[in-house]
Amino acid sequence: MSELVSEDIKEPHEPALALHVEDLTVSYGDRPALWDIDLDIPPGVMAGIVGPNGAGKSTLLKAILGLVPISAGHVRLFGHPYRMQRRRVGYVPQRSSVDWDFPTSAVDVVTMGLYGELGWLRWPGRSERDRALRALDQVGMEALADRQISELSGGQQQRVFIARALVHKPDILLLDEPMAGVDATTERSIINLLRQLREAGQTVVVVHHDLQTVQKYFDWLVLLNVRLIAAGPRDEVHTAENLRRTYGGQIALLDDNDRPA
Ligand code: ADP
Repeated sequence: MSELVSEDIKEPHEPALALHVEDLTVSYGDRPALWDIDLDIPPGVMAGIVGPNGAGKSTLLKAILGLVPISAGHVRLFGHPYRMQRRRVGYVPQRSSVDWDFPTSAVDVVTMGLYGELGWLRWPGRSERDRALRALDQVGMEALADRQISELSGGQQQRVFIARALVHKPDILLLDEPMAGVDATTERSIINLLRQLREAGQTVVVVHHDLQTVQKYFDWLVLLNVRLIAAGPRDEVHTAENLRRTYGGQIALLDDNDRPA
C-alpha cells in the first residue's frame, strides 16, 4: 500500500532534453533550407550552431520557434511543442532584422518581453518596469534604460535585446549571431553573460559563424549545411573531417570580415 502512495505522489520528471528536433525539413518555395534534421541538445549546455552562410542556421532557430512553416518533422522543447513552452524560451533575433529607428527606449523594449505574460488587455506597470530594469542591470545597461534605442551603439542594442529575452527568466535562450558586428569588449561581455546563464542552469543555443572562437565558446556543437553534418559534445564534433564536410573549400575565408557571399 505504501508503495502505491509513493508512486502516486511522485513528481512528474523533467524530460532529459532541452531541445529535440526530429526529421525536420523546412523549405522556402520548393528549395529546402533544412533537410531531414535530427538533433538533440541536453539541458545546461552552451551550444553553438555553426555552418556557412545560407546553411539554414537562422531557419533552424525560426523553425524551433514556429516562425517558419515546417514541411516535415517536429520540434520539442523540454518534451513539449513550443506553443506550450513559450514562457520557457528566450529569443534574440539577428540585430539586422530589427528596426532600430523605432522611437522607443531601452527599458520599453525590454518590457515588451513581458507582453506574453500580460496578455493584450493589461498595460505594463511598475512591477514590469522593475523587472525590465533588473534585466538591463544583468546585461550592464541599467544606466541607459531611458535612452532611445536609435542612440545606442550596436553592442548596447544587442545587450538590450538580450535583456528583453531574459526578462521572463527563460530556461532556454536562442540567440542568432549575437556577436555579429559588435566590438571585442562587447563580445567578451556577451560571452561572459552567456556563461553565467549556463552556470545558473540555463541552456544557451547560439548561431555563430566565427570558426576561430567556436572551441573556446561552446561545449556543444551543431554543424549544419542544409543537412546536419554532426552534433554533440564539442571535442567529438570539432574534427577536421567534420569541418571540411560542413564548409567544403570555404574554411580559409571564414572570419568576420571575409565571409563568403
Ligand atoms: P544561415 O542563417 O545559415 O545564413 P538562413 O537560414 O538565413 O541561413 O537561410 C538558409 C537558406 O534559405 C538561404 O539559401 C536563404 O537564402 C534562404 N532563405 C532564408 N530566408 C528566406 C525567406 N524568407 N524566403 C526565401 N528564402 C529564404
